Amino acid sequence: MFKEINIPKEVLNCLDRLDNAGFEAYLVGGCVRDFLLGIEPKDWDITTNARPGEIQKLFPNNVYENAFGTVGVKTESEDPKLKIIEITTYRIEGRYSDKRHPDEIKFAKTVEEDISRRDFTINAMAMKQTVNGKWQIVDPYGGRDDLKKKIIKTVGSPAERFNEDALRLVRAVRFSAELDFSVKGGSVSGWKIEKKTEEAIKKESGLLEMISKERIRDEFVKIIMSDNAKFGIEELERVGLLKHIIPELREGIGVGQNKHHIYTVWEHNLRALDYTAQKKYSLEIRLAALFHDIGKPKTKGGEGPDSTFYNHEVVGAKMAVKIMDRLHFSKNISEQVIHLVRYHLFYYNVGEVTEAGVRRFLRRVGPENVDDLIKIREADRIGSGVPKAVPYKIRHLLFMIEKVKRDPISPKMLKVDGMDIMKILGIPPGPQVGHILSVLLEEVIDNPKKNEKKFLEEEIKKLGELNLDNLKKMAEAAKEMKEEFEEEAEEEIKKKFYVK
Ligand code: ATP
Ligand code: MG
Repeated sequence: MFKEINIPKEVLNCLDRLDNAGFEAYLVGGCVRDFLLGIEPKDWDITTNARPGEIQKLFPNNVYENAFGTVGVKTESEDPKLKIIEITTYRIEGRYSDKRHPDEIKFAKTVEEDISRRDFTINAMAMKQTVNGKWQIVDPYGGRDDLKKKIIKTVGSPAERFNEDALRLVRAVRFSAELDFSVKGGSVSGWKIEKKTEEAIKKESGLLEMISKERIRDEFVKIIMSDNAKFGIEELERVGLLKHIIPELREGIGVGQNKHHIYTVWEHNLRALDYTAQKKYSLEIRLAALFHDIGKPKTKGGEGPDSTFYNHEVVGAKMAVKIMDRLHFSKNISEQVIHLVRYHLFYYNVGEVTEAGVRRFLRRVGPENVDDLIKIREADRIGSGVPKAVPYKIRHLLFMIEKVKRDPISPKMLKVDGMDIMKILGIPPGPQVGHILSVLLEEVIDNPKKNEKKFLEEEIKKLGELNLDNLKKMAEAAKEMKEEFEEEAEEEIKKKFYVK
């Protein structure tokens, strides 16, 4: 009934070599689950009764640098997930006194013992090829049955298993979102968490506080990157885990918006995320979509159809800084997400925005971010539930951007630089140079024809005669011009929302 998955020859070779040397060897865990589901496993893990030293002897080309008995066998494969195949000695875990690391790792004698330490029944299966070429499945906890029924259920007592390692709480939700590839998006998944397992998650959710943020983040990212990201976040909320991961998102629950929206802030953020997941966009875009209106509950003014959310993008960006930091996302990813949240609310109306306005917009958001911002805008629009047909505005903005894209928008693009200013005026480095550059850039953004060396040199001479105070004021006024487009936008949004 499922698609046939080929087991790569590199994997079969490892199994054979262990077998020929007289050891037991099984495929185990996620790859067995995926194989039975007919999906390509992310990696192929092997478990064996050979000890690490014995594995190393059989596979001289190896890496062994951990305390868990896992030997990485290097292969010739070009495929990144086959370059190293992990072979782990059967083991059982000792007591977990800190709820996240076993106190000791003990090698085990049988594959059944090894399987008993695994988290969910669907992850607690092993398989090996018998002499007649058939695959024999070791399935002591009814994993195959639960795969058919699409049920996530712990191996043994759920409360005990969550107390051993609380990351399993989030993993349960992750698998229920990730394993469903028949339903596309929205709030449904064909998978369910079994009743007792679910009750234990609700009861033990607070254990998540003991778990390192990096481990939580990695599971959270898998939820976000699945097709059922929206369902995954809703499940996290439903079983009481979200408040231990991103409590800020919950502020939007039940917060109504104005006449331009039919959904609450919570539902709108999730629908925006859903759109980006269906489009298979990057992690950064998905996170930015999920957080784009996260500042709304804190900035809401009034009630009902005329309520306002001034500055929610600024407040939201600040909240995103905290979230990304708390979950230890890399600087790169964080900066991009925060930037997109901060600038998602750009306004553009055909015929009202000048070319200079578009240049200022580009300077503010960065030309390299335009594509991503437009994706967020689209997610926002579709996620609002009242998607008015406005894509022509976006097309027009893209056309305007194309028109001005070679125009100068940063000091680097001016035909003169700081050195020229110092030379012409005979002055040392200092604030004067910076102020003059700001004023020149503003003139050029206003009219790119002015970006001529001769003209700018004359301007430098004139500006050089001003005293520092006046020059500073001009530079500051120029910098304020930067924001004009945005303030215009605010004005327009106010008009659009019929707010005085
Ligand atoms: P993925 O498809 O994301 O790789 P996976 O099921 O393979 O999913 P891994 O994190 O790669 O998940 O772990 C491999 C296997 O190790 C799991 O299938 C499970 O048997 C076991 N395992 C992983 N993490 C835990 C845990 N926290 N507690 C118990 N068993 C675990
Ligand atoms: Mg895996």
